[in-house]
Amino acid sequence: MEKSLDIAIAGAGPAGLATALYLKRAGHNVTIFERFEEPKPLGSGLILQPSGLSVLADLGLLDDILALGSRIERLHGADATTGRTVLAVRYDAQPGGRFGLAVHRAALFNVLFHAVQRQGIAIETGVEIETLVVGERASLVFDTGRRGGPFDLVVDASGSRSKLRQSLNDPAEPRPLAYGAFWASLGWREGFDENALLQRYDKASVMIGVLPIGRPQPGAEKMAAFFWSLKPADVEQVRAAGLDAWKARLISLWPACEAFTSQIDRFDQLSLARYGHHTMRLPAGRRLAVIGDAAHSTSPQLGQGANMALLDAAALSHALAQADSVEAALETYAKARRWHVRTFQLLSLALTPFYQSDGTMLPFFRDRLVATIAKIPPVPGVLASMVAGTLIDPFRRIGLKEAHWRDHPAGSGSRETNFSPAGIDAGVADSPAQPRP
Ligand SMILES: Cc1cc2nc3c(=O)[nH]c(=O)nc-3n(C[C@H](O)[C@H](O)[C@H](O)COP(=O)(O)OP(=O)(O)OC[C@H]3O[C@@H](n4cnc5c(N)ncnc54)[C@H](O)[C@@H]3O)c2cc1C
Repeated sequence: MEKSLDIAIAGAGPAGLATALYLKRAGHNVTIFERFEEPKPLGSGLILQPSGLSVLADLGLLDDILALGSRIERLHGADATTGRTVLAVRYDAQPGGRFGLAVHRAALFNVLFHAVQRQGIAIETGVEIETLVVGERASLVFDTGRRGGPFDLVVDASGSRSKLRQSLNDPAEPRPLAYGAFWASLGWREGFDENALLQRYDKASVMIGVLPIGRPQPGAEKMAAFFWSLKPADVEQVRAAGLDAWKARLISLWPACEAFTSQIDRFDQLSLARYGHHTMRLPAGRRLAVIGDAAHSTSPQLGQGANMALLDAAALSHALAQADSVEAALETYAKARRWHVRTFQLLSLALTPFYQSDGTMLPFFRDRLVATIAKIPPVPGVLASMVAGTLIDPFRRIGLKEAHWRDHPAGSGSRETNFSPAGIDAGVADSPAQPRP
């Protein structure tokens, strides 16, 4: 679209910030609205997959994030009692030099947020969006009764508990999942593989995980995301039994984890993440695009959420660049993402009970059969592309090219680096987005 549009973005998470960068660079007039007074990331760590990393590369931010995160080459899970391997996925089971990058959420947030600041994108904080009113154009309604706009387009990037999507006919509210997890960001400790997500299981009711997440900012200590899966309904019982009882149980299952549990002396160091699952059939309405977790949320078992949020941002901006009208762009955006989103949501829903549920049949099957099948070609390659987010090509329909991984051989928080992302403490000029085909 040639015309410059007035666009409001609800939410300054990965989806909202990436969309703001794309749309500002395309010449639109963009304002972000965020409920926090100080924009900030929530949670511990996450894995950026080749899909999401390609979006960051397209935005010119790949080197910034590579300098902070920890390069992940494999995911490995073992039964806590027998030590038997029950999950083994390697990115290099597929050609092309792909890898994941585990990051502290603050690292991803800072890289995107400082790019937003450098672009001079307007951001209004401390505003709670309640709904929108659509006429010829769309206006936001805040909890104070004040209105913002009017805008040609509102982008709902306000996460899984979005209020804005209520204005659509089919808002598809998230269904709470039985299991969530305690998460903590802790100091990294030697003795664990710095290039792997490691997990231990006891049936599907216990899952302990250690993920190296590099540094939240340049010069900071290297960190780990440490998690213990549990049902939100059981949290009070766990607290009542006391921290020592919880630690003892954990160490009995994975003794080496004392290196992490010894850093925890209060329950409030552990944040409880609750998971829900929903997929909107049509993530768009009149003058409204719904992206990221607002459009589709799930458990982090497959580690795709933030990556899908970034892909949505790229897809929406590509659709707006190609189409003649906002309506046509919204249709193109929804179509372009439909099958990738549906496939990964379905996979996540199907896989989660193998790792987080009360059942005994699924983990029995997982422990005995899955690990064996997973070694037989072409299964290792299929698993690698499932984790990489590329089982269904996410790139072509949104006009994106996958990054050339062999040009980025290092990129790891494990490497000592003097690199400082532009804008964090150095005033380096913006790297422009690469030309879109
Ligand atoms: C424990 C955990 C682990 C995860 N691990 C992974 C992983 O390994 N890999 C992966 O890809 N994904 C992972 N995810 C999922 C990932 O975090 C999400 O998919 C991603 O953050 C979605 O980004 P988003 O921008 O759509 O939404 P969010 O990150 O939720 O951002 C929404 C923003 O909107 C703001 N907002 C909300 N409502 C309003 C309102 N009414 N008015 C104004 N502002 C509002 C919020 O304050 C927030 O800043 C994990 C999630 C959890 C909980």
